[in-house]
Parts: sequence; structure tokens; C-alpha cells
Amino acid sequence: THDKPCRPHIAVVAFPMGSHVHTLFTIAKALALAAPAATVSFITSASSVASPPPSPIANLRLVPALEVSSAGTPGEQLSKFVRAMPGNLRAGLEEAVSREDGLRVSCIVSDGMMPELGEVAREMGAVWVVDGCAPVMAVSLLHAYELREAFGSAVDDARGITPKPLCFNSSNCNLLSFSEELVSFVPSLSSLRVRDIPDFIFPPTHDHLIAGTIKEYPKAAAVVFNTFQGLEPLIDADLTSMLTKYLPIGPTKLLTPRAETEAEADRLCIPWLDRQRAASVVYVSFGTFNAPSQRGLVELARGLEASGHPYLWSIKPEMLPKGFVVGGGGRGLVVDWAPQERVLGHPAVGAFLTHCGWNSVMEGISGGVPMVCWPFRWDQMANARTVSRVHGIGVTLEEGGDVAEGGIAKALKTVMEEEEGAAMRARVKMLKARAEEAVAPGGSSSENFKTLLDIVCG
Ligand code: UDP
Repeated sequence: THDKPCRPHIAVVAFPMGSHVHTLFTIAKALALAAPAATVSFITSASSVASPPPSPIANLRLVPALEVSSAGTPGEQLSKFVRAMPGNLRAGLEEAVSREDGLRVSCIVSDGMMPELGEVAREMGAVWVVDGCAPVMAVSLLHAYELREAFGSAVDDARGITPKPLCFNSSNCNLLSFSEELVSFVPSLSSLRVRDIPDFIFPPTHDHLIAGTIKEYPKAAAVVFNTFQGLEPLIDADLTSMLTKYLPIGPTKLLTPRAETEAEADRLCIPWLDRQRAASVVYVSFGTFNAPSQRGLVELARGLEASGHPYLWSIKPEMLPKGFVVGGGGRGLVVDWAPQERVLGHPAVGAFLTHCGWNSVMEGISGGVPMVCWPFRWDQMANARTVSRVHGIGVTLEEGGDVAEGGIAKALKTVMEEEEGAAMRARVKMLKARAEEAVAPGGSSSENFKTLLDIVCG
């Protein structure tokens, strides 16, 4: 609990899609618990409000006021939502105020995908704090014009190149997939190859996000990140120099006491894990938006079977390859949602096959579990590169070849059975210890969270 009395109205606004809702809800919970005298309104859409569990915290209110059209594909719904900003966001904030009998919003904590809220916060006279999503995403957005100038024409040229025959990952794979050149002219991105640069930097469809980020992030009172000081020192230095206040407060899931929920998924997964040997299980999840193609899924199912290890696979049942029979000999458990943080903290889990969404990477580190990375798009290629090359805590499956030619079983063997894998495990355990130190009393994330409280409490 914070020392000073804090009675503001903090509006936490989540981009109403996928993991963004979970991330912002984690921050909202942490703020509500640490500042019991504050009112925290969590604003998102009605369709996404079911994903965080209903709040048992007295000063945390759910405000499902953002409008998301249910017509069209998820991509179309998303573009429509983006086009309707910031009007939709203003309406959400007004709803939060009216639910609190006119108590004005004194602080907006919002998702990095909505830089439009900077202007709205100024209009309302509210302090504005941003959740910057993955650190590499923020750095890439802030350097987007330099990256475009350096590599934009290469992207245009690459559009004409025939994709690799086995390229079944992402829309990005026929663009920059060929360039091994390092991005050495931006120090904070210098461990990345050109092909790892987040793919939203180049197409004009994300111009509003790039322009908004460059214009607004430096004006925010603080930008928080789900990372910890020292995990990526060059990124720390770059963001410190570009922002008013760079606040790494992660791993954010460690900020709030873990709810020992009795959700259906927990009742299924945890007792099953309890029956497995230590470090023997492969946990597979591709997050909230992504999945391999049918062909990739078939390779994955084969790879899991061939690895001989028990596996826990989080996937919507309708996406499983046709005819796939789960877990020969009872070695597999397939669920449509897993309590991922608890799973990764379970001693039975020996490897995490992940798409490398940043939250998943942080949860892998917090659990001390080495990773097999299968990135698809956005910042995932960059995160996979960081996992495998910068930290040496996993291996990355390259598009096409590796995935198809027995590469999944081979990667799992490396991580689970070989000396190289043991070294990865030792390194990720060291990072886990550093993450725990960061969130412990007096640790860097814990101190940064106190600074955040000072800022949001005004
Ligand atoms: N997640 C989960 N159970 C699942 C699948 C995903 O709890 O079965 C959570 C996971 O813990 C993580 C989030 O969903 O916090 C996914 O976020 P990430 O940034 O890794 O990927 P995204 O969904 O944004 O691509």
C-alpha cells in the first residue's frame, strides 16, 4: 500500500483485443490494490470484458463502454475500431465519469496502441501514462522513419520476390525474410536482422500509430513496460533518452498476488501437470491472435508426437488438424485456454513452444522455462531473436524449412535433452532470479511502480 493517501479517479483504457485487455487489467488491479483510496475504472469493450475475471477488488470498476463492431473479420473489426478513435475513447471516459457521479478523471493510463489518448488527456486536464507494450515495439515505432528510410526500398523490391516454397508463417514472409543484415545504425535494435524488424513499420496502414507514437509518447508523464531494468540495457538507454519517464515495472504479472482461481482450465491443467515428472512437459501456446496454418499444425502435431515428451497444448479445438488424435498413450492434454502463468511456474514444464508475444516471453522468463520460438508477425520475430540470440534461453524455428523437416522434434530435443538445452535452462533460471529481484521490495521494478503511483496519484 502506498504511503500517501491517493484519491484520484484513474481510468485505465485497454485496446479491446486479445492480450492487451489482460495486460492493462493486470496494471489496473495492481494500481487499485496499491492505492485503495483511488477509484480505478477499467474501460474496454463489452466483448472483451469477459476475458479478465470479474473483479473482486472494491475500488476497481469494469466499464465495458468501448464500441467494437461485431461485423466482419477480426481484422476488419479492428480497423473500424481504430478509425472510430478518439471519439469512441472520449465516450468511454465520459461513461466512467458518469458512473462515478461525475468524479472527474484525473489520470488516464492507456494502451500503447492508442496514442490518440494523449490529446484527449490534455483536453481533460488529466495526467497521461502509457503502457508501451513490448519494449522492442516502442523502440521500432519511435525509430520508424529512420528504418523506413534505410530499408523501405528493400521492402518494395522484396515484394516482387517469390516467397520461399515452405513459407507458411506470416504475411511478412515474402517481404524482408531474406535479409540477414543487422540493424546496426540503431544501437537499441542492433541485435536484430532486418528481417526481424516488426512488420507493421513498413506498410502505410500503420501510419497513424507511427505518427501518434512519435508525437505523443515523449509527452506522456511516463511510459511503463512489462520488462525489468537491465534485461535489455541498450533498449533501457534508448527509451530513457527518448521519453519523459521510462518505467520498466515488470514482470507485471508478479506485481499482483496471484489469484488461486478455481477456473475450469486450472482444474484440468494443474492436476495433470502434478502427475508428470519434473521438467518433462512441453507447453504449447500461440497466444490470443495467432495460429500456424493447417500445414504448420500438422507438422506441429507430428513434432510433438515424435519428441516423445508429454505435452500441454492450448489451442481452440476447431483449429486442430483434421484427424489429429490427441496424445498417443495419454501423453498429450489439449485445452482451449490454459492458466499460462501457473503452467509456466509448474516444475513439470520443461519447455515452452511459443509464438513469442512479449507477455509470453516475460512469463517464460518468470517461470524459468527455456523456449522454442515460432514467431509469426508483428514484434514476434524480434522477440524470438532476443530469446535465442541475445539471451540464449531458447531456439528459433525458422520459417518453412525448420518447421517442416522434422525441425520441431529436433528443437524440442535440443532444449529438453541436450547439453545446449541445459545451458539455456541455467541461463533462463538466472533471468528468473533477476526478474524476482526486480519486483521484490527495493527492486528496480518495485521502485518504478512506486514512482508510477506518485505520478497517477498526482
Ligand atoms: N494466455 C493464457 N492462456 C492461454 C493462452 C494465452 O493465459 O491458453 C495468455 C498468456 O499468459 C499471455 C497472453 O495470453 O499473457 C498472450 O499474450 P502475448 O503478448 O504473449 O501474445 P498475443 O496474444 O498478444 O499475441
